[in-house]
Amino acid sequence: MQYEQRIPRQTSADLFEEAKGYFPGGVNSPVRAFRSVSGPPLFIREGKGSRMWDEDGNEFIDFCCSWGPLIHGHAHPYIQEKVMETVARGTSFGTPNRLGNQLGKLILDNHPYLERLRFVSSGTEAVMSALRLARGVTGKNKILKFDGCYHGHVDSLLVKAGSGLATFGTSSSAGVPENVAKDTLIIPLNDRDLLEATLAQHAHEIACIIVEPIPANNGLLIQDRSWLECLRIKAWKHNVLLIFDEVISGFRVGFTGAAGYYDVQPDIITFGKVIGGGFPVGAYGASKAIMDHIAPEGPVYQAGTLSANPVAMAAGLAALELCLTPGFYELQAEKTHAMATAIEAYARQRGYPLHVPHIGSIFWLAFGTERITRSDQIDAANMQYFKTIHHELLQTGIYLGPSGYEVGFVSAAHTVADLQEAVGKICAAMDVAFW
Ligand code: PMP
Repeated sequence: MQYEQRIPRQTSADLFEEAKGYFPGGVNSPVRAFRSVSGPPLFIREGKGSRMWDEDGNEFIDFCCSWGPLIHGHAHPYIQEKVMETVARGTSFGTPNRLGNQLGKLILDNHPYLERLRFVSSGTEAVMSALRLARGVTGKNKILKFDGCYHGHVDSLLVKAGSGLATFGTSSSAGVPENVAKDTLIIPLNDRDLLEATLAQHAHEIACIIVEPIPANNGLLIQDRSWLECLRIKAWKHNVLLIFDEVISGFRVGFTGAAGYYDVQPDIITFGKVIGGGFPVGAYGASKAIMDHIAPEGPVYQAGTLSANPVAMAAGLAALELCLTPGFYELQAEKTHAMATAIEAYARQRGYPLHVPHIGSIFWLAFGTERITRSDQIDAANMQYFKTIHHELLQTGIYLGPSGYEVGFVSAAHTVADLQEAVGKICAAMDVAFW
């Protein structure tokens, strides 16, 4: 398939060539390089509401939303105002600050699954710290994770399953020692018998089970509530901690994230993305008893020069205040549901092999017509369709994350008209991809 450029992309192409002289692959995070879609990555100049503009002046309705943080869209006036006010008083002190208290209070007052929090600066850092905490609390070393869940670039989680059923990980990145990888066990999602067998055999050395309760990094693999309840019960039974990695789902499918959505109480929750209102913030939280293991209260060391940075706290506080507006989450979910079902209806009518799993304001263009709940059900061959759809959408002013394994996000700034426009263009792109 030829991917003809009908929009100007030369400025982005030139900037990308320049960037290759500075950064490996021209980027500061790999998926940004557009390796699995066509053309050079777009260099984005600015955004407002649901829209953003690249350096060539092309306008897009943005469904990537910075990979999830921008639940209120780009440059929200209230968040901007709070950030500006804070910047004017200085940007970092390395001391406790009132804005950190305010964000901590807002979260803990409205999130019954948590008693204490610690702010960090990214989702990866939140996960890395949560694992150390789990190991510190239990005195055990191994971790159980699930195939198809991503938890950031933490060494012990950059592992892939070997062959066999419950497998000890082998490293999936150069630079991760096999010695580290072998402390991670990997099993498929939603295999209850294998979960029980693995825990029965290894629980004496497993510190924690870590799961994305709404797996959203390898497609959107929506699980049944009963599976999350099963994880909770098995973790209790076998005396291991349960970590919900809510870097995507936290404050996204509801203020209380997946824990609240499914009403399942994990032992530790990790956050990123929405919690920082577009700034680099992560956090991990748990009961007071568990969090009291963290320094300086307890023996588990964890620190950060820019942790709870006041400007980032101001942005997070403003963003989460807006999330608490009555009806906020219901509206985003309804908009997303309407968009997803309209796309699905068109695909069904034309006989195209595509459906749109969605939950809250997260959606995924999934190929095939069967529900997908495990990563091994995704057929990599179908990603050629995504490449075509992605290209067509860029030509018509719709921006999706540049990989068919990535989910999309609807923000509060997406209007019904935006969504109608997007549905029409996605349907037209499907016509090109599937004909
Ligand atoms: N956990 C999950 C569930 C994530 O989706 C991500 C990022 N996509 C991370 C952890 C890592 O977060 P960050 O990119 O902020 O380090």
